Amino acid sequence: MATCSLLVRNATVVTMDPERRVIDPGYVAIDGDRIVGVGLDDWCPYDEADIVIDGTGKAVLPGFVNAHTHSTDLLLRGGLCDDRALYDWLTNVVDPGCRAYRPEDVRTAVELYALEALRSGITTVVDSVEAPLDDWDETAETVIGVYTRAGLRTVYAVMFYDAIAPEHLAQVAACDQRPPADRTDFGALMDLDRALAGIERIMDRHHGSADGRISVWPSPGVAIFCSDAAFAGAQALARRRGVMTTVHVCESPVDAHQGGRTGVGHLAAIGYLAPDVLAGHCVQISMDDVAILARTGTRVATNPVSNMFLGNGIAPVSDMLAAGISVGIGTDDANCNGTVNLLADLKLAALAQKARTKDAGAITAEEVLELATIGGAEAIGMAHEIGSLEPGKKADLAVLDLTASHLFPRHSVASVLVYQALGTEVETVVIDGRVVLRDRQVPWLDRDAERALAARAQEASVRAAALGRLPPRTDDLWRSRTVRPVRPSPHPTPPP
Ligand code: FE
Repeated sequence: MATCSLLVRNATVVTMDPERRVIDPGYVAIDGDRIVGVGLDDWCPYDEADIVIDGTGKAVLPGFVNAHTHSTDLLLRGGLCDDRALYDWLTNVVDPGCRAYRPEDVRTAVELYALEALRSGITTVVDSVEAPLDDWDETAETVIGVYTRAGLRTVYAVMFYDAIAPEHLAQVAACDQRPPADRTDFGALMDLDRALAGIERIMDRHHGSADGRISVWPSPGVAIFCSDAAFAGAQALARRRGVMTTVHVCESPVDAHQGGRTGVGHLAAIGYLAPDVLAGHCVQISMDDVAILARTGTRVATNPVSNMFLGNGIAPVSDMLAAGISVGIGTDDANCNGTVNLLADLKLAALAQKARTKDAGAITAEEVLELATIGGAEAIGMAHEIGSLEPGKKADLAVLDLTASHLFPRHSVASVLVYQALGTEVETVVIDGRVVLRDRQVPWLDRDAERALAARAQEASVRAAALGRLPPRTDDLWRSRTVRPVRPSPHPTPPP
């Protein structure tokens, strides 16, 4: 018999390995930061471990990969952003709101984000962070500091913008017509050389830190706000450092075209699309665009809840999968989603494809679960290390409690996780072999500190909304905003 550092026994083990084995009852053995054994519980060769987790009534999954997200904007949720289209939301809420942050608000946002992410079973995030160029170093220090403490595996993607074509400037300016309507200054456009030097500085300082859990990628933020030189420069830097780049592309009808072509067609024509590109969104795209993404090996991060929240549409994910494109799934901003809960988003991801295609068989629960695990790992180029429970891989996993009544009856664990789970079932999370969430609590925040964090977030959000002159949205305005006249029912009320 053998010993290891962490052992989960007697659980439903959803491996996401090449055979997609579900082992029940099974075990997962970890030693140090690696998985050393996965198999039937009866055949478990380990009889001793520093930490033993009884998996009775629980499922063990690879930790979820949040392939596209923005942690720092989280303080702008709660009703400040509802009912606005992408560029209205971006120019009238996100930009002024984030500019009104104090430096310490960034830490508050990311702490709240990390807590919520871990509680939904997320172990890896691709966090595209936007900040004024002068604040890049401090912002990176703060955000990466929180992630390092929380133990999350992180791609810190540094977003920048260097150019906006006149036709897009007019389109975006038109989005400013909603109050407060005095913001046509979108696009803190940056000097390209300074931006690339800034990204390289952040790479030098942080890439590979926290035992390799932190990666730094360049991100030409939004395709229509970046010059051809920006894509070339970002890609050259990324390739020199052995990382990927990520971009927002064809997210809404406003940015579906660029340079007289489709957005995807434009990025292909300038030679940018390649297997080391993670294209965020790809909502407003044609089947020709799907073929281009497949041909170039470009990977995609879909964000179904954000896309529906902002009225952008539904990405053709089932067509992308059929074309062989590597697709992961993200929660995007918490303020155009509501939460940082990838598990809760899976149901909507599935239903969106069924509704879009009017085909109930367009996508299966198993395929949706793949988006959040091995698919996400492939999409961000890390499938050799994470995304499945296999010996030799990094020990990143989530243990979910499946004993609640809403999870019964149960025949297929994938179906139950996608369609019945509420997103609150995650009990324990392990990253790099370290327990980073136990009984839904993180070691860096007790219950009192969590209440204080929530209060700090509320105070910071109220202040940022006032300073940024965000459109007020409070419950006091409910009546004037949404109450429609009551019409008499055509059906008479039956007598009592
Ligand atoms: Fe985004």
